Amino acid sequence: MNGGVEPVSVNWHIWPWCNYRCRFCFAHFKGICTPLSMNQAVKIPEILRKAGTEKLTLAGGEPTLCSHLREVLQASKEAGLTTMIISNGTRLNKTYLSTIADLVDWIALSVDSASEQVEKALGRGDGNHVALVREVAKRIHEFGIRFKVNTVVTSMNWGEDMRSFVAELKPRRWKVFQMLPIKGENDDSFADLATMNGQFEAFVARHECLNPVKEDNRAMTDSYLMMDPLGRFFQNTGGSYGFGPSILEVGVQDAIQRAGWDRRKFLVRGGHYQWRPGGKVIADDKEIFGVLRERGREIGC
Ligand code: SF4
Repeated sequence: MNGGVEPVSVNWHIWPWCNYRCRFCFAHFKGICTPLSMNQAVKIPEILRKAGTEKLTLAGGEPTLCSHLREVLQASKEAGLTTMIISNGTRLNKTYLSTIADLVDWIALSVDSASEQVEKALGRGDGNHVALVREVAKRIHEFGIRFKVNTVVTSMNWGEDMRSFVAELKPRRWKVFQMLPIKGENDDSFADLATMNGQFEAFVARHECLNPVKEDNRAMTDSYLMMDPLGRFFQNTGGSYGFGPSILEVGVQDAIQRAGWDRRKFLVRGGHYQWRPGGKVIADDKEIFGVLRERGREIGC
């Protein structure tokens, strides 16, 4: 890297569309009709790697709906990146997983409750998401892919005890997010689903024995290097998205400077953890390799 800020971990929302309709979703990309072509998309990993990126997380929308996801993962591995996808799990059947298993280091599944009714009411699927996650988590373990769980805390699940369910899923890392309001993305639902004072913290405290990586609204603001389906970094400063130019047009450093990123907040929230065995870690973090499982056993859940 030639000076500037090292974009060590990038979340690329590679695909703008999803087959779920989560009411708290903040990743709709309504203005994008045509994402990057495969030929354009496969250039991104090498460009990021040369700028200092170590880990590339592919999100959406639902990234497995992207027909060239495998090609982008392949390009990422050729560039030397640690790879992760964040998925709702609906397309992660055995056949699909076998096509990407050698190219993906981590898979994160999103699930917010052990109750099918709650997930359905949140828009996370049609009433079978919990069963799906149980099944897909097992499959991910069978393929030997590192597994993570993402949970969004809202007014509908803050009082739930998810210890037993999460321990059963055996993730290496469990991330717990406070529902984040973003203008133009989830305004309609925020009044219904926002957590009130102390509710997010109560959820975290109830699950402390599983050592979740917790992110409230403040921790999530400006602390992610997020890239949209067109290769543009964007930030959530002030509660709405601001997009910079594409890295394909101006390069990574210029694109980061114009979109903004708070690297200190990224480190403080534990964004640089040991995602690769033996990898260096810039800051202390809440990494929990193996710990979550042990804690789960200790409390008998
Ligand atoms: S699964 Fe993710 S991308 Fe899809 S609607 Fe839900 S939060 Fe949004």
